[in-house]
Formats: sequence, structure tokens, C-alpha cells
Amino acid sequence: MDHCIYCKIIKGELPSYTIYEDDNFKAILDIFPSSLGHTLIIPKHHYQGLFDLGEKESKEIINFSKKIAGVLKEVLGCDGMNILQNNGQAAGQTVFHYHMHLIPRYENDTINMGWKPLEPTQEELKLTLDKIKSAIK
Ligand code: 5GP
Ligand code: ZN
Repeated sequence: MDHCIYCKIIKGELPSYTIYEDDNFKAILDIFPSSLGHTLIIPKHHYQGLFDLGEKESKEIINFSKKIAGVLKEVLGCDGMNILQNNGQAAGQTVFHYHMHLIPRYENDTINMGWKPLEPTQEELKLTLDKIKSAIK
């Protein structure tokens, strides 16, 4: 936590472009944005990623994010928005303090969010499905 840049931002030890905050969350501008208005929603408590959040926090962060996303859409007039968060280095997480990205999108922007689709066999899909389904409680 001592070296976490978001904890430092929350504590006011590092500056940020703060859009809004309440007791639990802070919305700030990403300083290396994908598009202007790219916003980070950060819980004030240090959770590393999604799997560390409780049910209550998960719901609250979605509601908080939705509120800010609505304002971004209204003010910026964007055509769409990517709302995403990365968990783990393999998934592109670089700051290991849970956060949600709100990325305003425009019809002809050139942001690349794409992945190259696989072409799995029916068997691969079925095996994967069975593995996941059998673990759902
Ligand atoms: P991640 O890759 O972990 O999902 O996203 C981390 C995000 O934090 C990146 O989009 C990056 O631009 C942003 N970021 C890194 N350092 C700072 C900082 O000091 N201030 C702000 N506001 N954003 C930062
Ligand atoms: Zn932190």
C-alpha cells in the first residue's frame, strides 16, 4: 500500500484531476487517457482487484461508475463508452489497486480495444462450458 499511487492520490500525497468523490470512491481523470475524459473510478480502500471486493462494494462501485458515466456522456456527447477493469498483470493491470476505466468513444475514433478471435472447435467450446458450469454454485 505504501507504494500504491492510487492510495497516495486518495490520501492527497499525489495530485489528481478529481471529478467527484464520496466517502468510498473517487473519480479522477486518467493522466494518460485513451480519449479525453477517460476517467478512473477508484475505491478509497485498497483492494488489489475484483476478487478482493465484497458483494456490497461491487454493487456500490457499479452504481458510482454509472453515475459518473452518465455525466461524461451528457457533457462530452460521446457516441459510446467502454467501461472496463483489468485484473492481474496478464490482463493488463498496471496499477494494483482496483479501478474501473470509463473510456468515452466516438464513431470514428481509432482506439484499438480489439482482440483476435479464436476459432474453437465445438468440442473445445463444450469442454470449456462444462468445466465452468459445473463450478457454478
Ligand atoms: P490499468 O492498466 O492498471 O488498468 O490502468 C492504470 C491506469 O492508471 C492507466 O490507464 C494509466 O494511464 C493510469 N495512471 C498511471 N499513473 C497515473 C497517475 O499518476 N495519475 C492518474 N490519474 N492516472 C495514472
Ligand atoms: Zn492502493
